[in-house]
Amino acid sequence: MAIKMRAVRFIWALIKYLIWGDRVSTEVQQTRLSICYTCKDLCDTKCCVCGCYVKKKTQWSTEACPKNKW
Ligand code: SF4
Repeated sequence: MAIKMRAVRFIWALIKYLIWGDRVSTEVQQTRLSICYTCKDLCDTKCCVCGCYVKKKTQWSTEACPKNKW
């Protein structure tokens, strides 16, 4: 169930990005990624909290860290 919910959250994040989003600058993405890479909630390539791939999530202007770390 939790896996399905994370998949739904990721799909919703993708839809928001495709409709309203833009790419952030490389500097902003790198700052966000460096926070994710030291976060205890990172599961391999995904955020365990929201289910998003962090390399994508950190690129999208419509996204924010679910734990308010960035
Ligand atoms: S998005 Fe936030 S909670 Fe998720 S891995 Fe990155 S810093 Fe951690």
